[in-house]
Amino acid sequence: AHGTQAEETLIGRRGRLLGAKSQLFYDEPVHLVRGEGVWLYDADGRQYLDAYNNVAHVGHCHPHVVEALCRQASLLNTHTRYLHTAILDYVERLTATFDASLTTAILTCTGSEANDIALRMAQATSGQMGIIATDATYHGNTTAVSQLSTRMPPVGGRAPYVRLVPAPDSFRHPDAMADGKAFGDAVREAIASLAKDGIGLSGMILCPLLANEGFPTLPSGFFDDAVAAVREAGGLVIADEVQPGFGRTGSHFWGHQRAGFVPDVVTMGKPMGNGHPVAAVVTTSEILATFRNAFRYFNTFGGNPVSCAVANAVLDVLEDENLVANARDVGIYALSLLRPLADRHDCIGEVRGAGLFFGAELVHDRETREPAPDIAGRVINAMRDRGVLMGKTGIHGNVLKIRPPMPFSRAHAELLIGTLDEVLGGVGGVMA
Ligand code: PMP
Repeated sequence: AHGTQAEETLIGRRGRLLGAKSQLFYDEPVHLVRGEGVWLYDADGRQYLDAYNNVAHVGHCHPHVVEALCRQASLLNTHTRYLHTAILDYVERLTATFDASLTTAILTCTGSEANDIALRMAQATSGQMGIIATDATYHGNTTAVSQLSTRMPPVGGRAPYVRLVPAPDSFRHPDAMADGKAFGDAVREAIASLAKDGIGLSGMILCPLLANEGFPTLPSGFFDDAVAAVREAGGLVIADEVQPGFGRTGSHFWGHQRAGFVPDVVTMGKPMGNGHPVAAVVTTSEILATFRNAFRYFNTFGGNPVSCAVANAVLDVLEDENLVANARDVGIYALSLLRPLADRHDCIGEVRGAGLFFGAELVHDRETREPAPDIAGRVINAMRDRGVLMGKTGIHGNVLKIRPPMPFSRAHAELLIGTLDEVLGGVGGVMA
């Protein structure tokens, strides 16, 4: 049912109303109307296996989450300047999953807003502006955090207080990955470069999984040197958990716990409300107090009673259905199915990942490691045509990104990898 009249009309209408460049996935965009568990259904009733959606963390339309949302929405929803216990109960439960130093939170509606607050916490605490991120990241869409994105360069150019350090690349520069020393050195250079321009350090923001950078394989303790450098210079360490958070990596509830460091500020979003827009910044009571004194921060919707009921229900399901353990088990199994594909398909340069966040880096040539973003694009489109939804990411846009809802099972992994095997066979012949 590709390119039907109705579908073209819908794309045209979308372009007219939302702008021609409003982002859509796939050459033939999918028109979804329903979701259930790991399955999505389009307007023609066609079923797709969702191997991409970390937003529907505990599964699309999970009945427990839907019920919590409906119950609270039919009882009360307000702005956030009244007393209400839901936000307090939730923050207690959420912060219990962190290091004992991280006891307080601000709830927001998006990960971008959370990161925007995190940057201001670092500025207020240090009294400085300098901020360090990697050169292949994305931390959101506000004016402040879009300064950290290289894919969408900020209008007016990069602010003088931003330094972007080279993103680690375990495939092309494995030596530099040995112990994080080279990354730490790059962070020290960035701090020195800021100082040379008379700019002090406020902090460093990192996704502990380096998800948008292509989730390179990091040895344990990789960030230790960089974290130490930032703290020596008086900066805060901000962990952006928008992608690895809420147990996705299977081994730990948070990506920074897996990476082995304790941040000063943690931000989270996407999976937190299973699709409902709720996000958060978690930090120490001291940093929060400094921020609250420096800014009169108020968020109309952030942490409203419905958002808190939903976020709380997501934690219930994660616990009740043992989904973190499932992510570990199915993630290991899926990698064991994916690795042998490299023996059959020359375009696979490296297979990597953790828990239910894994994929493969595609190349034109294993010797030169020339990235193959074109093949990655054709693979995800061919997968979509066969009813499996996944994405691509990474420094060169050539890393297949598989990040399904957490109830993904071994049988789903078999379907996914079996389909990928077929697709790679097809694209290999045509594209080699
Ligand atoms: N941080 C990271 C690491 C992200 O990947 C994203 C979104 N892809 C964001 C922040 C922004 O989150 P949101 O779209 O909810 O504003």
